Amino acid sequence: MRVSYGVPLAPLTTLRIGGQATSLVEFQELADFPDFVEEMRHSPAPPVCLGEGSNVLVGDQGCATPVLRMATRGLRVRETDDRDRVLVEVQAGHPLRDLVETLISEGLVGMEMLAGIPGTTGATPVQNVGAYGQEVSDTLRSVQAWDWELGRRVTLNASECGLGHRTSIFKRSRRWTVLSLLFSLRRAELSTPVTYRSVAEELDVPLGSSVPPAQVAQAVLTVRRRKGMVLDSSEKDRRSIGSVFFSPEVGGPTAARLRDLGAPVARFPDGSTRVSASWLIRQAGFDLNHPLTHGVRISSVHHTLVADEGASAAAFCQAVDIVLRQVLDRTGVLLTPEIDFIGD
Ligand SMILES: Cc1cc2nc3c(=O)[nH]c(=O)nc-3n(C[C@H](O)[C@H](O)[C@H](O)COP(=O)(O)OP(=O)(O)OC[C@H]3O[C@@H](n4cnc5c(N)ncnc54)[C@H](O)[C@@H]3O)c2cc1C
Repeated sequence: MRVSYGVPLAPLTTLRIGGQATSLVEFQELADFPDFVEEMRHSPAPPVCLGEGSNVLVGDQGCATPVLRMATRGLRVRETDDRDRVLVEVQAGHPLRDLVETLISEGLVGMEMLAGIPGTTGATPVQNVGAYGQEVSDTLRSVQAWDWELGRRVTLNASECGLGHRTSIFKRSRRWTVLSLLFSLRRAELSTPVTYRSVAEELDVPLGSSVPPAQVAQAVLTVRRRKGMVLDSSEKDRRSIGSVFFSPEVGGPTAARLRDLGAPVARFPDGSTRVSASWLIRQAGFDLNHPLTHGVRISSVHHTLVADEGASAAAFCQAVDIVLRQVLDRTGVLLTPEIDFIGD
């Protein structure tokens, strides 16, 4: 366990915005966690968790509450009675991209569409991370977490985690710190069916096809790179958090009206019908590279917000507000920010 004081948080996030943490506790070993719990005994509030900072905006004034950075790594594959199914236990700080790579190389299927998503595995249940038709809820079996309210370690089955479209009981709650996760994966030679047109086109296969998982992951990475949705894909747009807004849910008449305008309206794994937030942003009149506030603009390759030199949390929030209002005015659809805020 490493404790540091007055630590700038901006370099620990992908947006590179925000002030200092009064204290930052970093874990490489889970065995140190009980010592940290003991130290937190007199703290009025639970710590703020930070993984790779790829979905957070840190306030300009920083964060007075202790920040806990999970840097624990490692995974363990457990056989089950079913020869085709294994359980994989993963430490919270393990990078998701490393997990996806390992699973593919081990011939395990179920997370191949998540290739290229930045962040730690421990953060994945927070917003039920997902892409191209796959979500963490498809494979998550259970989560081991520290429950700051009960003051003890708990095991939550996936069904108790409230996993929905980019949400869960962990989203915007500081009650739990995720310590490790258990996934259930299938041994198979072919991926889960490809349900996204862009990925199918990249693979040159019909929708619904299954192909070797490594090929699917490669195709997903190519599609993501085109949109700047892989952190190393574009120097210019790298200060990003991916999508800033949830894909909004739309009801029957609105969905029909938007479809007539050519909007990508799709059914999501939780049964909801949603329209692409980036399509709405473009439809509302924001061009690529459109400047929004000081140091904040629309990306040069995708309709999402990115930061440049001089950006602040205040400017980013103002930019979010500008986009939100103009999208509502021009399309009648209300966007909701996906980003989590850290700070006072
Ligand atoms: C280029 C880019 C593309 C992206 N594409 C996608 C995508 O396709 N799909 C998608 O779903 N997301 C996507 N994201 C968002 C982001 O990668 C995910 O939300 C990711 O899970 C965040 O992981 P992190 O470790 O960076 O978490 P952080 O950003 O550090 O934290 C995110 C939230 O999780 C909490 N948290 C982190 N670790 C823990 C823990 N151990 N216990 C409890 N709470 C914790 C934090 O307090 C915070 O509220 C993208 C981001 C970027 C930059």
